[in-house]
Amino acid sequence: MIYTMSKVSSKKIPGTAVLTLLFWGSLFLASCGTVQRSSETEESPVTDSTRTKSIISYLAGDELRGREAGTPGLDLAADYIIEEFKKNGVSPYFNDYRDTLANFPTPTHNVVGMVPGNDPSLKNEFILIGAHYDHIGVQKDVAGDSIANGANDNASGTVAVMELARYFGRSRTNKRSLIFALFSAEEKGLLGAEHLAEKLQSEDLDLYVMLNYEMIGVPMNGKDHLLYLTGYNLSNLADVANRYAGEKLVGFLPQAESYNLFRRSDNLPFHEAFNVPSQTFSSFDFTNFDHYHKVGDEASAMHPAYMAEVINRMIPVVESIANAEDREIKYN
Ligand SMILES: [Zn+2]
Repeated sequence: MIYTMSKVSSKKIPGTAVLTLLFWGSLFLASCGTVQRSSETEESPVTDSTRTKSIISYLAGDELRGREAGTPGLDLAADYIIEEFKKNGVSPYFNDYRDTLANFPTPTHNVVGMVPGNDPSLKNEFILIGAHYDHIGVQKDVAGDSIANGANDNASGTVAVMELARYFGRSRTNKRSLIFALFSAEEKGLLGAEHLAEKLQSEDLDLYVMLNYEMIGVPMNGKDHLLYLTGYNLSNLADVANRYAGEKLVGFLPQAESYNLFRRSDNLPFHEAFNVPSQTFSSFDFTNFDHYHKVGDEASAMHPAYMAEVINRMIPVVESIANAEDREIKYN
């Protein structure tokens, strides 16, 4: 998430899903008693806290030096994400997974993968699932630590996109096509998302909806839902998500409105380029995390089990949105 938009230029059932989860859930339970899984192909596509912890520990590790756009640390993160995409059947959307920014002076890349839809006509419609994977790099030293690791902001959202990509890359249960995008240079003013939105718009991509993940590493305080949605009242996305989740998964956070978070993450350039529902899911509630843009934003402060729960509850939501007959999500 960025502080303000001042630096930014002013231009612009779930039936099958539940069954799939039950199927893999039972496989997982069945495999618990065995010593080890017999082969890679039996690996469950849903995530767990071991996976979320392992991924966030790498992305927010000191080796990556805070993942500032244009630095070798962020390129290491890109390499890592691309390896995971390859392992899990996620193909490059363009010729290469790396989409080099045209609006940043130092070479830096979005990572853009896709899982094509399995329906002959709906596959021409796209859902973009995104998160920024850059952070603010090395900052002023505090008690011997100068690396702003960016675990919550936004290695956590990156984990969500990677694990959703892994699920659909392995299950191939989506009728509409899914693009999985990790953006660079969000912290420089949403530049990676702006670059990709304009590029996709210039090729007339038929974008249905953009789902963005930002700061989902720590649960909210005292809420009856796991996430909030920015731009909550702009569309029916929260209602649709909760219907497919079969519970109140997504709610309203007053501060998201008062701080105008709708305009402070990578959903905004897609909203501006396509004017289709483009919104951010988050759990940063202004009370649950004291390390925003500080060197204390470390993997050890994250909640891997909560992250896994968020991601696994999102799977049937995304699957149902991807497979619905009609484009039911609309701006009001
Ligand atoms: Zn940030």
